[in-house]
Amino acid sequence: MDIRLTNSKTRRKERFEPLDPDNVRLYLCGPTVYDRAHLGNARPVLVFDVLYRLLRHVYGAGHVTYVRNFTDVDDKINATALARKEAGAAGTIEELVRERSDETIGWYHADMGALGALRPDEEPRATEFIPQMVAMIEDLIAKDHAYAAEGHVLFAVESFAEYGQLSGRSVDDMIAGARVEVAPYKRNPMDFVLWKPSSDELPGWDSPWGRGRPGWHIECSAMAHDLLGESFDIHGGGNDLLFPHHENEIAQSACAFPEGDFAKIWLHNEMLQVEGKKMSKSLGNFFTVRDLLDQGVPGEVIRFVMLSTHYRKPMDWTEKKREEAEKTLRKWRSLANSAKSGGKVDAAVLEALRDDLNTWGAISALHELAKAIDTLQRHEVPQEQIDSFAASAQMLGLLEDNAQMGAWVFDGAVDRMARQTDLDALADRLSEVRRAAMETKDFAEVDRLKSALVEAGVEVRMSRAGVELVPGQQFDPSRLEGLS
Ligand code: AMP
Ligand code: ZN
Repeated sequence: MDIRLTNSKTRRKERFEPLDPDNVRLYLCGPTVYDRAHLGNARPVLVFDVLYRLLRHVYGAGHVTYVRNFTDVDDKINATALARKEAGAAGTIEELVRERSDETIGWYHADMGALGALRPDEEPRATEFIPQMVAMIEDLIAKDHAYAAEGHVLFAVESFAEYGQLSGRSVDDMIAGARVEVAPYKRNPMDFVLWKPSSDELPGWDSPWGRGRPGWHIECSAMAHDLLGESFDIHGGGNDLLFPHHENEIAQSACAFPEGDFAKIWLHNEMLQVEGKKMSKSLGNFFTVRDLLDQGVPGEVIRFVMLSTHYRKPMDWTEKKREEAEKTLRKWRSLANSAKSGGKVDAAVLEALRDDLNTWGAISALHELAKAIDTLQRHEVPQEQIDSFAASAQMLGLLEDNAQMGAWVFDGAVDRMARQTDLDALADRLSEVRRAAMETKDFAEVDRLKSALVEAGVEVRMSRAGVELVPGQQFDPSRLEGLS
């Protein structure tokens, strides 16, 4: 019944033992809110969403705290706000920055919601935790792990013997490899910024070192500490954050709170590519989650494709995978059409997820369940088998009765239960008409009903046992109106 996760820190798959099973705590580095999330940004969100669902299933929904931050201190947000100000927008620079962040956060919620991602328990914004960051920096200076110089505060990497352990680099190698010009106020070229001065026209906060703003790394250390404590269970992000961001988070937190462990397990997802190439603006293959949704790709399809690859492997977004996912989900949705809530999650699906979030394995197990249902006649499938299939898919956030995700399968947002009731009523009606036709030998009405059903995309199975109506991929319920 264990959960096993690959810890980037130990480079081993480990048995997960929560610090407190009544409150399992997760932190995921969230987006910098300057623009729409691109497709790659959705990957850590979906990986953590499955982890969150699994932990809630195992420890209870009220016993997991998931924190994902918004980085709203950033040059790119400032640049947008400045451009708006220059174009004549009203308001202070702080207000314009806030406006841009609010707008981006709204998009983020809408886009991740369309992918079926649950909202974390806490979504702290960096700008709302500045006093905690300042306090942490003061503490690091007092403990000789940081120093102030020319309005900046820098973390002294040599003061922390374990610096480089997460990413497996030594400070000397890093210095040798760094080719950038070193700022004169740094004692060691690898020392990194905790606080830096802000110019008058940009947002800034008063601090013991003058008006300025925090560095990116201290934001996560301070927010994670404030919301999750000195030690918590799992910290994650894409593996592009492993160095320097996560390495620096560890250095800051370990030195400020030497009694704590910071994060026990570090989880990193591999990068997303598009048709075998790195996604980049210069290659012309860069797109946002919203671009895909606007093209009519359902959020559930994006989710399915993402989860078809294990999080520790590079994942390739391809048109072919999108098509296949869409076909599979249409089929699965028609099989789960009459599912009721409260089904039992299949053991093989759960076991796959417990084994280092093997979402690919879980999807394979779902294929098996679907096959088993599909080989039976519709009326022969035990209700609990259908319910279990749906509940198992929902562990992955698929086949949810979520208007944003479910309505795509059939044109228009038609209530699934109502549709099934319609088909059941029509099956009864067809049986009745057929029985009468056997006596009168006039099959005109049977034929009329049958062809109307076929035209609406329903497969009509007639046998001595009765009539069965199976909605196919092209099922269009609006074409049944006036029939029953
Ligand atoms: P950012 O807003 O750039 O800080 O990124 C937000 C999250 O998206 C981080 O966890 C990144 O590691 C992750 N991320 C960025 N690009 C990709 C990609 N191509 N594939 C997977 N994850 C990514
Ligand atoms: Zn972070």
